[in-house]
Amino acid sequence: MSDDKHLPIDVLRHSAAHLLAHAVLDLYPGTKTGIGPAVETGFYYDFLRDEPFTPADLEAIEKRMKEIAREDVPIERRVLGKDEAMRLFEEQGQPLKVELIREKGDATVTVYGQGPFADFCLGPHVASTGLLAHVKLLSVSGAYWKGDERGAQMQRIYGAVFPTAKELEDHLRMLEEAKKRDHRRLGTDLDLFSSNDELGGGLILWHPKGARVRAVIEQHWRERHWAGGYDILYTPHIGRATLWQTSGHLGFYKDSMYSPMDIDEQPYYLKPMNCPFHIEIYKSRMRSYRDLPLRWAELGTVYRYERSGTLHGLLRVRGFTQDDAHIICTPDQIEAEILRVLDFSVSILADFGFTDNKIELSVRDPKNPGKYCGADDLWCRAEASLVKALETRGYPYERKEGEAVFYGPKIDIKIKDAIGRLWQCTTIQFDFNMSERFDMTYVGEDGKEHRPYMVHRALLGSLERFFGVLIEHYNGSFPLWLAPVQALVLPIAERHEAYAKSLEGRLREAGLRAEVDLSREKVGKKIRTAELQKVPLILVVGDKEVERGTAALRVHGQGDKGEVDVARFLGQAQELVKNKSNTVNF
Ligand SMILES: [Zn+2]
Ligand SMILES: [Zn+2]
Repeated sequence: MSDDKHLPIDVLRHSAAHLLAHAVLDLYPGTKTGIGPAVETGFYYDFLRDEPFTPADLEAIEKRMKEIAREDVPIERRVLGKDEAMRLFEEQGQPLKVELIREKGDATVTVYGQGPFADFCLGPHVASTGLLAHVKLLSVSGAYWKGDERGAQMQRIYGAVFPTAKELEDHLRMLEEAKKRDHRRLGTDLDLFSSNDELGGGLILWHPKGARVRAVIEQHWRERHWAGGYDILYTPHIGRATLWQTSGHLGFYKDSMYSPMDIDEQPYYLKPMNCPFHIEIYKSRMRSYRDLPLRWAELGTVYRYERSGTLHGLLRVRGFTQDDAHIICTPDQIEAEILRVLDFSVSILADFGFTDNKIELSVRDPKNPGKYCGADDLWCRAEASLVKALETRGYPYERKEGEAVFYGPKIDIKIKDAIGRLWQCTTIQFDFNMSERFDMTYVGEDGKEHRPYMVHRALLGSLERFFGVLIEHYNGSFPLWLAPVQALVLPIAERHEAYAKSLEGRLREAGLRAEVDLSREKVGKKIRTAELQKVPLILVVGDKEVERGTAALRVHGQGDKGEVDVARFLGQAQELVKNKSNTVNF
């Protein structure tokens, strides 16, 4: 291959999946192969085999993969007739491949071969296995054939591959770091949240300390929204089936909704989205062009079905609170509104310490305009307003042709965390479907009824997921303004407790989340506990501090800062909170 340097990473990953299957069949003949796609972080392959793959097996497989890579076996594409291809995999003892080819139904299929190994897929692949040397197998877990819980139980082996050794090493280091800061572990260690089977998977319990962080996030979110020209709404958790029929959810979103409940012989559904409620508020009265734009936000708790196997801590849950908003405006306002919502989103993400973003613009597939709802001129104007906003601000973005959903184009913002991972957060999404379905109108300057633009916007995404990202980004050491306990007062001995309590009172009066440690532990132990709990400010008080009305300050991660005047300390702490500083300087 002439252009190896610019090899798409997905081609490399999918080729590594073939290499994995090749090695498995070399070492464990008789194993049945399922599918082996590239995924966002690497690749996997599903295998059907009675014995479980052990960590030692994974090592042996990886070793074999590297051997085949060193042999630099050419990878060849062949086009076979459907029957011929089915015969080939029949002979190879691969019934799952035969099943896939049978279902696929095309007269000819492509088969990629390397040495004795062959796989049925569309490709493309790298030219030879020599390009796959920097590969690492990571884990094995269970999966179902075709994702169907009644289907065969497969073993899914995950791996990562990179063009260079350096990139692979960096990635493995990042994975190690990610493991250390796993929000599920920190959630338990720092007593932030939990979830359990008794309660039901994917449902989150916010413990007092996690709830404090959430309350700070929500308060900041509300203040910024009011200042940013938004109004805040509250809407119910359930709605009649008729509402979800009108919105179209019972048509195209039913699989993600929970079974209805019967209220006065009427079916009601838990809400998977807030939009229909906001539209009902819009429609509660006649709207004029003079009322627009409307910017309505809600911290709306929604419920969506997720397969139990996909649930993951705070990141993938069944009940979550979206920081939702809908912007409803006239066509003339759309450009200014999109720029405004883009600025607003970027600015709020920055408040939480996320300044390195990746922006994606998803637009229509120009070759397939029939796939989308909404008039052509509406789409053109909407897409143009998104492009204009991005270009006005000079943000680099990736244009994704044909990635728009059927009801409108969108901008997605992914934030980059402290260890370089990207997380999808903000979405700014036009909707030409619901405005039609609900027949939303406003009376224009001409006295006639017009269709407004409607834009959905989730900024942090969901509070649960965003909290999970925050925990991992900060490794549990939240900046002062977000920390659940900002300051902890540690009396050295019992005789210092009264002073410690009065100091705690002063801190609380100054608006700081302060606590006092009245345990009968030695002060050294108390300090270690506070450090493990990642409390940003620790105030130790003993004889000298009581006598002089001061405190000895320790800053998390920085150690002893010496004696401080309490009034001055309070002023500085308040300033750090107000500025949302990421670092604590005293
Ligand atoms: Zn393939
Ligand atoms: Zn919406």
